[in-house]
Amino acid sequence: MARALFQSQSGTQDIFPSEADRRRRLVDIFAEEVTKAGYGQVIPPMFEDVGVFQRLGEASDVVSKELYSFVDQGGRNLSLRPEFTASVCRMFAQHRPLVPWKVWYTGPSFRQERPQKGRYRQFDQIGAEVIGTDDPDVDIELIAICWRFYQQIGLKNVSLVINSLGDFEDRARYLEDLQSYFKANADQLSEQSLKTSEINPLRVLDSKRPADADVIAKAPVLADYLGEPAAMSFERVKLGLTTLGIPFEVAPRLVRGLDYYGRTIFEFAATSLDAAQNAVGGGGRYDGLVEALGGGSQPGVGFALGVDRILLACDAEGVFDAVDSGPQVWVVTTTQGTEALEIVEELQTAGFRAGRSFGGRSMKAQMKAANRSGADIAVIVGESEAESGSVSIRQLRTAPPSGEVSSPSGSASQQTVIERTAMVEKVRSLLS
Ligand code: AMP
Repeated sequence: MARALFQSQSGTQDIFPSEADRRRRLVDIFAEEVTKAGYGQVIPPMFEDVGVFQRLGEASDVVSKELYSFVDQGGRNLSLRPEFTASVCRMFAQHRPLVPWKVWYTGPSFRQERPQKGRYRQFDQIGAEVIGTDDPDVDIELIAICWRFYQQIGLKNVSLVINSLGDFEDRARYLEDLQSYFKANADQLSEQSLKTSEINPLRVLDSKRPADADVIAKAPVLADYLGEPAAMSFERVKLGLTTLGIPFEVAPRLVRGLDYYGRTIFEFAATSLDAAQNAVGGGGRYDGLVEALGGGSQPGVGFALGVDRILLACDAEGVFDAVDSGPQVWVVTTTQGTEALEIVEELQTAGFRAGRSFGGRSMKAQMKAANRSGADIAVIVGESEAESGSVSIRQLRTAPPSGEVSSPSGSASQQTVIERTAMVEKVRSLLS
């Protein structure tokens, strides 16, 4: 009977070495940026009590439709994280570190979305949060970190939009008017949006349904409802971004998918990607979330960037390519001894990427493997080299004239015999 051939789950990705390597480099660059700004890394668990995420707001799709929730063997109601902010706030509430608490993170998040290119059910995020201060200079610092990071990796076509959702009281007045407005125009709204407007009218502004476009375009805007403190905070953010030379646009109808935001919110879009999946990062202030998780009244602000989408944007712009991390040196031996083990060890200890064949294959097969491996140099030990304490060095690729791709040089390449003690230095000089 044929064995079942399992496939990866829809919306998940199998990531192979060169792409995994590229991801790690991306995260390393991000880590460097946030570390310079004084952020420390936190590693929260990937699953929490479902209640932690429910605090993000029942009206948001992420909570109402997309949570990966399950009951474990002990009857606990758990959920895989759909994002990091709630976990970071739970962590803060539980451990009460000193404020301002400045942290960053990286890792997978899980949402049961409809998969398509750039939209996955497991995707990687990198992000940062600051808990314990409502100073808008922190909002500016966070946006500046994102901006610098995008520039570092070479992305040029990234746009920034910002808005202010005001303070709680501002929003309450606005929501009342917005709800009345939607009620008055119910006949022009899609059925789904009409339902959403009864739970959280703000989310209707997020609707991409063509049927809603007209009503949304004419809806009252939050900017007209901002109280003095929120308005001042927003002015400061705009001044700061201008001072730092970060281009932005104010988008009066920008709201974010989750319910907990207030005051500054922002989103980065990669304009080289399709509009439906071009959000490469976003964030904002959430001045009620820590309290909702039992951490007392503490303001917070943060962002999360989507690693998968950033890499798609890099592909679209032809920047931040994968780099060759294959072997530089291939060790070929035809002796029965331990030369291959020793030489590979010696080369790797000296800092080179060194590989070899296994399984006692013929010289010819090993040389073929050496050429296929992409290595620049073969170090060869036959019986005569083993006896005399020497190695043969063969260059597998000749240095190409600039602009051309190198190619295996086959039999035309030279082979030199050197003392084994001189091997590391010889390899170093050939590779440099
Ligand atoms: P959000 O909290 O929804 O704004 O997510 C922050 C960032 O994570 C977004 O700007 C995207 O870059 C990324 N992201 C969110 N959902 C997904 C997904 N399903 N697949 C890939 N990336 C995502």
